Amino acid sequence: MKLSNFGEKFAGDSGIVALMDDLGSALNENPDMIFMGGGNPGRVAELEAVFRQRLESILADPERRHSLFGVYQSPQGDRDFRRALAAFLRGQYGWPVDEANIAISNGSQSAFFLLFNMLAGAMPDGSQRHIHLPLSPEYIGYRDTGMGPGLFTATRPTLELLDENQFKYRVDFDHLAPGQDAAALCVSRPTNPTGNVLTDDEVAHLDSIAGQCDIPLIIDGAYGQPFPGILFSTARPHWNDNTILALSLSKLGLPGVRTGILVAREDIIRAFTNANTIASLACGTLGPLLARELFASGEILSLTRDFITPFYRERAQQTVQWCRESFAGLPWRVHRPEGAIFLWLWFEGLPISSQELYQRLKRRGVLVVPGHNFFVGIDDDWPHRHECLRVSYAMDGDRVKAGVALIAEEVRRAYTEG
Ligand code: PLP
Repeated sequence: MKLSNFGEKFAGDSGIVALMDDLGSALNENPDMIFMGGGNPGRVAELEAVFRQRLESILADPERRHSLFGVYQSPQGDRDFRRALAAFLRGQYGWPVDEANIAISNGSQSAFFLLFNMLAGAMPDGSQRHIHLPLSPEYIGYRDTGMGPGLFTATRPTLELLDENQFKYRVDFDHLAPGQDAAALCVSRPTNPTGNVLTDDEVAHLDSIAGQCDIPLIIDGAYGQPFPGILFSTARPHWNDNTILALSLSKLGLPGVRTGILVAREDIIRAFTNANTIASLACGTLGPLLARELFASGEILSLTRDFITPFYRERAQQTVQWCRESFAGLPWRVHRPEGAIFLWLWFEGLPISSQELYQRLKRRGVLVVPGHNFFVGIDDDWPHRHECLRVSYAMDGDRVKAGVALIAEEVRRAYTEG
């Protein structure tokens, strides 16, 4: 088969495909593997009950059942859903948005693919533009989305060492200089993989830099605000007409439903919708139908506050406690867990690479993600890149505890035997 440049890039081996294949085959070979590698949300019983009940009521109503299965949605997505969400955002946060500021996509991953390539890459005047990540490590899912090479540049963060084996990345504003060829700034908040939540001041500062450069600030709120609310620090949701806010229903417990949401200026939404029509024709109906009432009634706020935030906060605290017990005596640190569903572990001076540690852990029956994969846009030889692991705590507590104990054994062995 002869492949185009596009085919070579997207049908061939990329970092994320190799990693996903490896995770998948490891699970097939050993179904008892402790899976701390993926981004799957945990099972929050109360949310599952709400969605089940909503689905049953849709199925019981012939008209709504038909609109679920038998009707192509408009490419911008279900209008009633966009209206309900816009009213919710206006009412709660005072954002001046209506349904024209909102587009739905089949998962936020596909929205990022279109958005990044719409804004950056080869430009009509022959120049190249890139997406700048003000703080990397960042979400691995961005890494291979570019039609061409080098879509991302990034600024290395500063590290603040905290008590109790914790640390926190900060945006290094002294060195952040997006340059003429930056097409947008992009941050995930909370950040996958680190659980960092950019402070309100950091976001305001990034917003002003984006404004000065006349480029948008993309905020990926897959874990955050206003929903699903997987964050444990105080942070204000941010939007203005220079912000592109990407949201998702996935981490509410609906990753199989594939619903992403963009909130942005109308011209950006129109451009995105045109591109999305070519790529997808229409958006799925299930997510908007399941979630519309939650926004119309405002129930989304109590569901996240009462069930989702506490569920993940408890898991994060418990997992950090298990780490403290198991890693005692080792030179370990954990990024302060402020949100998302992962712990980001740092083993300073680790005598083996995080890739080798990943392989050894896989042989011991626990799957994590080696940290170097997340340093998107950072090419330099920073030893820190090879000293970190991303560990999910979304699954059953007993499994997480056993996984942490195995990680500790292997890390201890690496420090003593290499
Ligand atoms: N953004 C972040 C930070 C993520 O972690 C993920 C998935 O894990 C996505 C976006 C994509 O999510 P989805 O395509 O399910 O909306």
